[in-house]
Amino acid sequence: MVKVVLFDLDGTLLPIEVETFLKGYTKALGIKIAHLMDPKTFIKHLLDATNKMIEDKNAETTNEQVFWKYFSGKISVPEDIIVPVLNEFYEKDFPLIGSTIDTNRRGAVLIKKLRENGFRLVLATNPLFPKGAVIERMRWAFLDPADFELITTYENMHFCKPHTEYYQEILEYLEEDPAHCMMVGNDVEEDMVAGKLGMKTFLLNHFVIDRGSGIPYEYSGDFNKLSQVLGIK
Ligand SMILES: [Mg+2]
Repeated sequence: MVKVVLFDLDGTLLPIEVETFLKGYTKALGIKIAHLMDPKTFIKHLLDATNKMIEDKNAETTNEQVFWKYFSGKISVPEDIIVPVLNEFYEKDFPLIGSTIDTNRRGAVLIKKLRENGFRLVLATNPLFPKGAVIERMRWAFLDPADFELITTYENMHFCKPHTEYYQEILEYLEEDPAHCMMVGNDVEEDMVAGKLGMKTFLLNHFVIDRGSGIPYEYSGDFNKLSQVLGIK
């Protein structure tokens, strides 16, 4: 019996092509910091620091700590100058990217139904972003953060997808048996890997990303199929 449903965000509850979104995001960020340093160099270090964060499996350091340890050593601008600029970016510029995205309420409608039916919910987005940027993207998908018991961000997590440690950390937070959990996502490698810990898995088939890892999953389909599997009318 499923008691907890974990949802990925990008390409799952938020119907976007991740590659397109990331391009728009890095371009806007580059423009924002152009008065401080060369945008191309900045983005290169940002992506490298993001990869460091993904690779790092030290349980003692948050993703945020890993990111900044690497990133501040690479960029020519001191942290106390760049951080306020980034904060302003996430507050003012980042929301504008959402206005260019054509989304819908399908995921949000299902989330409300799941709450009404007593399911516990987790927003299991790859924790590479600050909380503000995750909450903002949830807004684009018409989601209410209050419906989720846990929202994974770079501040509160110590691991990233596709590592099973990321899902293990969520299970420990929930104090729940993996057999009672279902991970729903659009990425075979990053999301369906939760099955290795004994969680049930559902591949949402709208914006599927499959790098050929061959990771198995239990179910696949659209939101209607998911409702059916979870016994929701
Ligand atoms: Mg996704």
